Amino acid sequence: VVDTGMPLTYRDIKNCTFEFSDVTRELSRSPKYTFETKYGTVWYRSLFYAIRNREYIVHICSDITERRTTYERLSKEALFFQETKEGVVITDENGNIQSVNASFCEITGYTMNESIGENCRFLSSGVHSEDFYRNMWESLSHFGFWQGEIWNKRKNGEVYPQRLSITRSCDPDSGEINFLGLFSDISAIKETDKKLQFYANHDPLTGLYNRTQFEEILGFTISSAARRNTKFALISLDIDHFKEVNDTYGHHIGDKLLKIVASKFHALLREDDIIARIGGDEFNIILDGIDDEADAIVISQRLLESVKQPIVIDGNTCFITLSIGIAFYPIHGDNAIELIKNADSAMYEVKKNNRDSFIVYHQEFTQELMKKVSLLYDLKNTLENDGLTIHFQPFYDASSETICGAEVLVRWFHPQKGFISPEEFIPIAEQHGMIMQLGRKIVRDAFEKLPGILAHTDTDFKLAINISAREFFDEDFPGDLLKMMDAYSVRAENIELEITETYAMQNHEEAIIKLTKLKAHNISLAIDDFGTGYSSLSYLKMFPIDKLKIDKSFIRNFTEDTSDRLIVSSIINIARIFNLKVQAEGVETLEHANLLKEMSCDIFQGYYYSRPMDFEALIELLSARRMQTPLT
Ligand code: C2E
Ligand code: CA
Ligand code: CA
Repeated sequence: VVDTGMPLTYRDIKNCTFEFSDVTRELSRSPKYTFETKYGTVWYRSLFYAIRNREYIVHICSDITERRTTYERLSKEALFFQETKEGVVITDENGNIQSVNASFCEITGYTMNESIGENCRFLSSGVHSEDFYRNMWESLSHFGFWQGEIWNKRKNGEVYPQRLSITRSCDPDSGEINFLGLFSDISAIKETDKKLQFYANHDPLTGLYNRTQFEEILGFTISSAARRNTKFALISLDIDHFKEVNDTYGHHIGDKLLKIVASKFHALLREDDIIARIGGDEFNIILDGIDDEADAIVISQRLLESVKQPIVIDGNTCFITLSIGIAFYPIHGDNAIELIKNADSAMYEVKKNNRDSFIVYHQEFTQELMKKVSLLYDLKNTLENDGLTIHFQPFYDASSETICGAEVLVRWFHPQKGFISPEEFIPIAEQHGMIMQLGRKIVRDAFEKLPGILAHTDTDFKLAINISAREFFDEDFPGDLLKMMDAYSVRAENIELEITETYAMQNHEEAIIKLTKLKAHNISLAIDDFGTGYSSLSYLKMFPIDKLKIDKSFIRNFTEDTSDRLIVSSIINIARIFNLKVQAEGVETLEHANLLKEMSCDIFQGYYYSRPMDFEALIELLSARRMQTPLT
């Protein structure tokens, strides 16, 4: 028996001998194959011992270096088994837990007794897909190893991240397969990472994005807007006279003021809006996905308002105002540098003037927008104060020239600005969420007047109501309309809905469902402005409609313009083919009427016959015509 005096290496194992006293520990986990000596771990394929005399034990072993690779690791790791901070779990081939260490119990919350015998699936959180586990098992069977991050569940239900490595080992003798799992709880690391990440991207004082992150987001917003063909606003905002606050009250008050102002801005904006503090008292805001530039003005006005009240900090009262510059993508720049430059230059423009205000890059643009914003406010007011009325424009049966219905047209007479065309305010109502209220009001008013109108006509009369696309595609639309018909005892035979062509064609699937539902209640349906949009014949065939309305733009010059005439006659032919009625709008002259009659158009509407009129005028007209013979 020879003491080599050197730490044993695996190559030395073959035929080496050492003193029994050198053996310090026999391992219980894989007792047959490893021995701990003071020189290190010794590996044996098999071990025999015999007493040669009282003092020595002879060890016979053979070199198993080639077979031992993974098994060695497994056992080596097992050395740390009880002491290590990492959780350790050993399972059989099927994932049934055979043993765990103390850290395992500490991390998972399960005791040894609770764990042993369970399948390791009992730890899973349900966060990962089947694919995730399939990959893991594939890696284990191919390479005998898997490592990664995994979310598991503690006994108390908490889902937490682990860094886990699994080694597959095969007992060189018995061929028994085991898995050794080693894991650490990395929730604390993740938390720190998150914090670090946060401070790399955010301003520590206000918690808003910092300049670097803002520029990155701006770049991203630009490419996404370019792809989606949308616009957005970039606001450059600066607190007026902030330096004076700092100089008068000290920096700590200045800091508190910035925090308060930041939270006011934050509260005011939508979740999707991006706000950043990019320098001392400078903020940048991205208002993404705005339908309308006017929205940015409304928000800027609110930002200005938000700091109007004096802000009291530690007994000091601060009065502040803001200077705001606005630039729009893409009209004021299609790249970050240009947009920022232009929003800034608009902001400096405000500083040069009286501060406490906003300017859109390009002054003319501001004025145009201001007009729109004031219209928006006025419309809201009018709607709330029931300031809108409806007029009626009769339409005539071509052969008998009797009135067979009337189109309801909304009217807004502004106390200062006079008559405002629905073509101007309907789109605003659509963009700013007022169209439902407006549309429902018109329907209600029309239904209220209908019995009065019917009393002066023969029963074959239809009241045609324009339904805006947004209104029509509202989930509640058909249901609400039917309820209102019920409430006002309106018969379906007496109403017709006009729906514009473009929207119906673009959303044909939904249109077909809704139109069919309305049709089932016997409500007449007309496609408005036919010929100005898609005019897809294949969809037209599927729409359960009754009438096509030829837009007035085709009628205007059609007696001279051959291509317009061709369009009109084509629309009339299409109506014939699909067995629909056809109605011409904008019939202004006798020539229009005659040519349309020649083309055998069914129904006429236009100034030549009747202009839109109020209810009283309509009743007067109806009663007078009842007395007379038809027009000649
Ligand atoms: P529209 O549905 O095409 O309505 C016909 C428009 O042509 C009306 O303009 C009408 O006054 C006008 N008009 C009628 N006859 C003639 C004519 O002989 N010559 C000319 N040049 N014009 C004629 P209005 O009332 O200004 O309405 C414009 C558009 O506003 C309507 O176009 C419709 O799209 C929308 N609109 C009007 N009222 C309502 C409503 O109550 N609800 C909804 N959603 N939209 C409405
Ligand atoms: Ca119409
Ligand atoms: Ca039209």
